Amino acid sequence: MTKETRRFETEIQKLLDLMINSLYSHKEIFLRELISNASDALDTLRFKAQTDQSLLEGDSDFKIKIEVDPKARSISVSDNGIGMTRDEVIEHIGTIAKSGTGKLLEAMAKKDSEELSAELIGQFGVGFYSSFMVAERVVLTTRAAGSSEATRWESVGDGSYTIEDCDRKSRGTTVTLFLRPLEDGDQDFTQEWVIRSTIKKYSDFVTYPICMDVEREEVPKDKDGKPIEGAKPVKKVTEEVLNSMKPVWNKRKSEVTEEEYKEFYRHLSHDWTDPLEIIHINAEGKTEYNALMYIPSQAGMDLFIPEKKSGMQLYVKRIFIMDNCEELMPPYLRFIKGVVDSADLSLNVSREILQHNRLVAMIRKNLVKKVLGTLKDMLEKDREKYLKFWQAFGPVVKEGIHYDYENQEALKDLLLFASTRDNDLTTLKEYCSRMPKDQKEIYYLTGSSREMLANSPHLEALKSKGYEVLLMTDPVDEWMLQGLTTYDKKPLKSVAKGEVSLLNDKEKKEAEEKLKADEEQYASLLTFLKNTLREKIKDVKLSSRLTDSAVCLVADEHDLSASMERLLRAAGQEVPETKRILEVNPGHELVKVMFDLYKENPSDPRLTEYSELLLDQALLTEGSPIADPAKFSKLVAKLMVKAVGK
Ligand code: ADP
Repeated sequence: MTKETRRFETEIQKLLDLMINSLYSHKEIFLRELISNASDALDTLRFKAQTDQSLLEGDSDFKIKIEVDPKARSISVSDNGIGMTRDEVIEHIGTIAKSGTGKLLEAMAKKDSEELSAELIGQFGVGFYSSFMVAERVVLTTRAAGSSEATRWESVGDGSYTIEDCDRKSRGTTVTLFLRPLEDGDQDFTQEWVIRSTIKKYSDFVTYPICMDVEREEVPKDKDGKPIEGAKPVKKVTEEVLNSMKPVWNKRKSEVTEEEYKEFYRHLSHDWTDPLEIIHINAEGKTEYNALMYIPSQAGMDLFIPEKKSGMQLYVKRIFIMDNCEELMPPYLRFIKGVVDSADLSLNVSREILQHNRLVAMIRKNLVKKVLGTLKDMLEKDREKYLKFWQAFGPVVKEGIHYDYENQEALKDLLLFASTRDNDLTTLKEYCSRMPKDQKEIYYLTGSSREMLANSPHLEALKSKGYEVLLMTDPVDEWMLQGLTTYDKKPLKSVAKGEVSLLNDKEKKEAEEKLKADEEQYASLLTFLKNTLREKIKDVKLSSRLTDSAVCLVADEHDLSASMERLLRAAGQEVPETKRILEVNPGHELVKVMFDLYKENPSDPRLTEYSELLLDQALLTEGSPIADPAKFSKLVAKLMVKAVGK
């Protein structure tokens, strides 16, 4: 096929412009990215060759080679991996290969382009394009394993690239960067030591040798291997391996330094902040495996996108098998980054096999236990650290209450909640330890903000009783609560649902009598309210949970709560309107005046207006929208004018 010029997709060009103009100071990461692509290409080939030996074409000496030409100011990274066909080059390089790229652009648009951070580049995998941070021209040649045709791709990053057939003897890919002229403060990537230190820093654990030809002056040796005295040194080129390739996870804990652990974390996650916790397991006995897991200290930007995959990699005898291995970690621990290496699995294990593999299930069980145990320890021993963890990953952990029945009890102890007590977060255990003797249930209220909840009328009676209420504002809370019905045998009870009984037997009796008397007294007004608001509410009742406010809305014990309804609607689901119960405070002045008005003239038109205002008040205080805000404002304005009396 002839030479073609093609245009980059608009988004890719935007990305390239950002790279080209980037003042980001860790430009050396381009090398990490190219090496990582090469290593991926080797992984893929190695994996495919297990079922199709012919792909190897007799060459199984897998390696990555770095070559430099200081005169031409070029550096190239070659691999003898899987390579790409012409169509693959067009598909992978030049179009948005991953949905993540669009999100990356969004994230970058918010940042100053000068601040283009390494985390962003790494997290979203736009690796190849980072070449343009240092190169003015990039050439890629590649031949797919098993194919005889090779392809050459070239671009200066100005909106288009060319693609054509070329000669290439060996399978694999070479990416050559023609570097920009050196400016003050730039690192020179044609220098051996710059490359050496960059590889040591970023790519030391890559499982393939990263080689480079190194020129050394050597004094010639005699036939016994002794340097010949007085002989002139001669230049000698040898190929050196620049990375250690030592998988840290297979070492004993005592053999690994803190810095090595951190380095491997950076390699694994592209996260430049130190991990919050490191979990290293060398399991022996029935199931033998090594695992190295990290709890990050910050959430990636993709934590909540539905397609976010597990952060676990699976190796079998140091050979990379797969990324995002969901069989090793449940989705609610998807933020854990790590590797598992087992010698007892077969090299050509597939995802399907993994799903039903007992050994894998056992490993997963152990890993989860270990993670939860580590978190428990952190909560007990270092609250500040745990708070940091919770802030980043709490909402995800809560999903576990719903999904992981087996570990539900352990998970319950890891939950933290805001409460009416003070500004700190509390565990359920701590909450229970503070419960007054006569309190039988754990009270909670869900809603959209802590401030709004803290002032909610539903809390009034509980507050006056000195009972603490958990305030839940995470969207996931409603959902979690379906699995969190008890803690330590104590039921969790929404103060916005059903009856809240706060009294002992004697008090209850008195209260019931009073309520009965009130009901008799107010019966006609209650019926009036019920008839007037019939369309919007299920019932009108006198309230025992209000002390200061006139009204509030409560759900029936098994109905959806208001905040769950709001959530489902926000998520685009059709939710049938659940009518709720309007609770009226018989002790409130407003109710008393309305009653007087009613007694004077049951058909006073103001009564209808006031009834609607009452309902709107109840809706507003709990953060729900009101049906007709314009009408509400008009009524309030009218009342204000009247109140001033002019
Ligand atoms: P990422 O590596 O995160 O997928 P890149 O932009 O670096 O993103 O690469 C895009 C795609 O191009 C890769 O997913 C891969 O399919 C292909 N690719 C890049 N480098 C190589 C290589 N050395 N060998 C084979 N394919 C490669």
